[in-house]
Amino acid sequence: MIRIALAALTFVLSHAGLAETLLVGSQDEFEDAVDNLKPGDTIMLANGAWRDFEILFTGFGTAEQPITLTAETRGEVFITGQSNLRMAGKYLVVSGLIFRDGHTPTNTVISFRRTRGDPAYHSRVTETVIDRFNNPERHETDFWVMMYGRHNRFDHNHLVGKSNAGVTMAVRLDGEESRENHHRIDHNYFGPRPILGANGGETLRIGTSHHSRTDSFTVVENNYFDRCNGELEVISNKSGGNTFRGNLFFESRGTLTLRHGNGTVVENNVFLGNRADHTGGIRVINADQVVRNNYMHGLTGHRFGGALVVMNGVPNSPLNRYDPVVNAVIENNSIIDSDHVELGAGSDEERSATPTDSVFGSNLIFNEDGRNIVAVHDDVGGIEFRGNATNNVDEPALTEGFVNASLELVAADNRLLYPADGQFADVGASRELKVLDPESTGVSWYPKAGSGMRFDTGETIFIGAGEDAIFDAAAGAGAGDVIMLAPGGYLLTKTIVVDRPLTIRAAPGTASIEFERTALFEIADGGSLKLSGLTISGRAAPDVAGNSAIRTHRYSMLGNYALVVEDSTIQDLNTNHSFNFLSVARHTFADRIEIANSVFRNITGHVLSLAQETDDLGLYNGEYVSMVGSTFQNIEGAVADIYRGGTDESTFGPHFELRASSLDSVGKGSRNKSAASIRLLGVQATDIFDNVVADSRPVRVIHTVGDPVTRLGDNRLERTPEPIVREFGGQ
Ligand code: CA
Repeated sequence: MIRIALAALTFVLSHAGLAETLLVGSQDEFEDAVDNLKPGDTIMLANGAWRDFEILFTGFGTAEQPITLTAETRGEVFITGQSNLRMAGKYLVVSGLIFRDGHTPTNTVISFRRTRGDPAYHSRVTETVIDRFNNPERHETDFWVMMYGRHNRFDHNHLVGKSNAGVTMAVRLDGEESRENHHRIDHNYFGPRPILGANGGETLRIGTSHHSRTDSFTVVENNYFDRCNGELEVISNKSGGNTFRGNLFFESRGTLTLRHGNGTVVENNVFLGNRADHTGGIRVINADQVVRNNYMHGLTGHRFGGALVVMNGVPNSPLNRYDPVVNAVIENNSIIDSDHVELGAGSDEERSATPTDSVFGSNLIFNEDGRNIVAVHDDVGGIEFRGNATNNVDEPALTEGFVNASLELVAADNRLLYPADGQFADVGASRELKVLDPESTGVSWYPKAGSGMRFDTGETIFIGAGEDAIFDAAAGAGAGDVIMLAPGGYLLTKTIVVDRPLTIRAAPGTASIEFERTALFEIADGGSLKLSGLTISGRAAPDVAGNSAIRTHRYSMLGNYALVVEDSTIQDLNTNHSFNFLSVARHTFADRIEIANSVFRNITGHVLSLAQETDDLGLYNGEYVSMVGSTFQNIEGAVADIYRGGTDESTFGPHFELRASSLDSVGKGSRNKSAASIRLLGVQATDIFDNVVADSRPVRVIHTVGDPVTRLGDNRLERTPEPIVREFGGQ
C-alpha cells in the first residue's frame, strides 16, 4: 500500500493529522486501509480487475473532509465476479468504479448501509458504472442500488442493461433512520433495460406500499431514462414529498407512476416516445400531487400507460390499493401527437372514488388529425378544467375549460413545439423548458448504449454445401454476420449454438438442411437468429420424442432474443411425436418472433411453443409474435401456443398477430392438450385477420387479466369451428 501525504491539506488537519491517499492493490490492503481512515483520506483501488470483492466501506468523514473511495484511474478499475459494495457512516464518497462481468452474491450491488440500522448519511456515489451486472438466473431477484439513511446523493452514474428481476434502483424507507431522507438522485444515465416479461422490472422506485404514507423528500432531477422498458412502471413513486424535475424519458415503455404517497411534484420533465409501442407519461394517484410544465411527445401508451392518466381511487383504501386523487394541480403540460389521456381511469366497483378539488388548467393537447384522445371514465366534476387548448377535435370528450381551435405549432429555440398564435402563449409547457442534454448524464469515459445489435449489419460469409459447413461458418461468424448458402444439401451432425445475432440465407428453394441431433439450432444468451430462404427438413433427426428445429438454451436466459423466419420451408418434423419447430425453456424471453412468407408442413408438435411459464405469476416467453403470409399444413400441435397466467398487471405483452395465412389440418393431434389450432392464454393484444383455416381445431383466446384487446376479421373457416374467445374461468 502506498501512502501519499497531502501536505497541501495540512492547514485544515491540525487535529486529525495528515489526510492521506492510500493506493491499495489487494483486498487485504483495502481492509487495513478502511480500519485506519481519518476525515479527508482517500483510498484508491489500483487499476485492473478486482474479482469476488465484497467492498465494505465505512468511516466518518466531515462535511469539509469527506472520506473517498475511488479508482486509480477512472474507467480502469473493474469490480467483477461475485462482488458488491456496502457503505456506512458519514460523509463518504465513492467514485470511478465499474461493476461488470459478474453479479452480487447478496440482494444488492450498491447498498447505502452496512446492515439494518447502520446506514450511510451525507454520502455520495458518483461516476460509477454498473453494466449488465446480472444474476445469471433471470427471475432471481436482486437490486443494483439501494439508498438508505439520509442526505445521500447518487449522481452522474451509469446503470445499463439490468435484465434479471428486481428494480434497478430503490430508495428504502424501512427504518426510522431512512425516512424524510432528502436524498438527491441526479444526472444519472439509466440506460436500456430490456423487457422483463414480469413484474419487478421497474427502473426506479421510491418507497414501498408499506411505508407509502411516509414522506421521503427525495429529489430526482436531470436524469436520462433511455429505453427503460422493463415493465409498465419506469418509475414507481411510493412515498410522499418527492420531486421529479428536469428528467428526460426517451422511448421508454411505461410511465412515471405516482403510485403511493402525497404531495409529490412532477415538473419540467420531457417525455419523447417517438411513437414506440407503450411509451407513456405520468399517472396520477393520491392527494396533493402537482404535475406541471411537462412536455410529452409521441407517446402511444394506453389505459394506465397513457400520456397522462388520472386514476379513480378506492374509498378508505388499504395501503396497497389506490388512494383517491384529491387536490391535484395539473397545469401547463404539453401533450403532442400522443394517443391517450385518461381521466377517472380504473373506475369500477372498487375504484369508485372520483378525483376531487383538483385543477386541470392551461394544458395543450395537440394532435394533427383532430382525433379526441381524452377518455373520461367516470364523473370528473371534482376537476376544474380551465384554459386548456386542443386542435380542432371532431368530437371532444370535454368542452368546458377547453378552447378547441385551429392550432399551428412551431419549434422554439429548445426545439420543442409551441402554438404559433400568441393568444395561446400561456398554454402548455414553458418556452424556457430545458431538454436535458444526455451528455450531462452518466460518465464521459464509458459509452452510452447504441441502437442495439441488429441482423444483417456485419459481413457476408459465402459457403458451399457440405456436412457441418453451416456449423463451421457459424462458429467463426461475428455479430450481425450473414452466412450465405450456395445451392445444395447441408447436413448438420452437431447442434449450432447461436450466441450472437446471425442470419443464415439462401436463394429460396436452393439449399436444403437436415440435422442429426435433437435440435438444429440452440439460441443462447446474446443470440438471435434469422433464417431466410431455407428449406429445413427433420427427416434425419433422431427417432425420439420432443425434438426441435430450434430451441432456446435449456435453462434461464438473461438476454432477450429475436427469431425471424422468412421465405423458408420447414417440413417433416415428424420422426417421432412432439417435434416442435421452436421449443423454449422456462425463464427465456423472445422480444419478437416473426414468421413471413414461409411454409410449415408435416409437424408432430407445435410450430411455436411459448408456454413454459406455468406458475401463473404473470410471466411469459415472448413479447411480439407475428405470422404473416404463411402456410401451415398438417400440424398436429398448435401453430402458436402462448401462455401467460396469473393476475399480475405489470406487463404489456404478449402480443400476437396472424395475417394473410392459411391453416390446413392444424391442432388435431391427440397430444395437443389445448385442442386448439392457436391457443392464446393471457395475450394482451391479438390480431387475426384475412386467414383461411380449414379442417382444423378452433382458435382459442382466453382473456385473463388487464384490458386485453382481441380483434378478428375476414377469416374464412372451412370445416373448422368458430374461434372461441372467453374470459378465464368462464365457459
Ligand atoms: Ca411493478
